[in-house]
Amino acid sequence: MHTSFIEISESAIENNIKFIKKIIGEDVTFSSVVKGNAYGHGIKVYCPIAYKYGTKHFSVANASEALEVLDVFKSLGAKDITIMIMGMIDNQQIEWAIENNIEFFVFETDRLKAAEQAARRIGKAAKVHLEVETGMNRTGFEVKEFRSVLKFLVSNSEFIEVKGLCTHLAGAESIANFKRISNQQKKFKRILNYLDKNDWEIPQRHMASSAATIRYPKTRYDLVRVGILQYGFFPTEEILVHYLEKIKITENPLKRIVSWKSRVMDVKTVKTGEFIGYGTSYFTNKTTIIAIIPVGYSSGYNRSLSNKGKVLINGKRLDVIGTVNMNMMAVDITFAGEINKGDEVVLIGNQEDQEIAVSSFGDFSQVINYELLTRLPQDIPRITIP
Ligand SMILES: *Cc1c(COP(=O)(O)O)cnc(C)c1O
Repeated sequence: MHTSFIEISESAIENNIKFIKKIIGEDVTFSSVVKGNAYGHGIKVYCPIAYKYGTKHFSVANASEALEVLDVFKSLGAKDITIMIMGMIDNQQIEWAIENNIEFFVFETDRLKAAEQAARRIGKAAKVHLEVETGMNRTGFEVKEFRSVLKFLVSNSEFIEVKGLCTHLAGAESIANFKRISNQQKKFKRILNYLDKNDWEIPQRHMASSAATIRYPKTRYDLVRVGILQYGFFPTEEILVHYLEKIKITENPLKRIVSWKSRVMDVKTVKTGEFIGYGTSYFTNKTTIIAIIPVGYSSGYNRSLSNKGKVLINGKRLDVIGTVNMNMMAVDITFAGEINKGDEVVLIGNQEDQEIAVSSFGDFSQVINYELLTRLPQDIPRITIP
């Protein structure tokens, strides 16, 4: 039995995808980043809707996520999609990826050789994206390795198809990193020039995630790997403000697609001078009516929201009081009008004219949107709403 559920709004997804496509134009491919279970929204629910609104390219972090996306589209019978693994793939999975036309990043020589050997074994070329190290200092070929990489590629062209050249920017969401980002762009360009001089044409050059897509248009090249924007969030306030100023509008053009809801489990009155729940963190200094909500930290409602969280019931913004337990928590409804068992409780989302934003949720528990979203537990049922 599930005591809460997550709603995913199809019209909000449509809105966000249209926004991204309008920004990048028709010549740039939009790769929908659905790692981390589509940032907590659920790959199974998110991917078919994104596809419905014209998204055909999906990026994931590892092979098991790729498998999940592959299964979604197999069951839909959709054959015109591309899946790209941006991170980890081990040697056995390489064969599987090649067989299933799954593209993957190659970021060091051993992996390149493993791809070539796997491709030889099954008699089919591996589709790879060469990742270059431009300054993030995480993964990627060093610039000085390129001569030998190129040599290897030339002599194994039958088994390695280079689909793309890519890099990842180290913090385009903050102007504080401007210098570093510029240097990364320069390094990337240098490699592209080098490849160009050697008559090596790269079909898809890519480096931009959400922040750079908005802030550094030149980084869009042939493809953008966009995650957080499609779920309705700017990567940071700074990028939002930058965008609003540039376009001279005041309203956030993106829409949150996720809502998280539950229902009131019980209502009771507690006398003045009592502690609520475990321990002594909340003491009633008035006769207090509380609603018990069947959601706790085991269902992803952070314990740090004890005595701090807000929820919506009956169109009112109400305080979580006492500690958040493993499976339930209490809300002060003393002045909230008539509330009954079974009434809707909004943990994230709207009710009448009130809203609990993911960011406000984040602010007072010191968690950023990215992290909070990916923490939404996988097993809470996802329901699509129009
Ligand atoms: C997660 C990720 C992205 C998407 O980042 P957003 O900020 O959510 O757009 C793009 N590229 C790589 C390599 C990533 O790991």
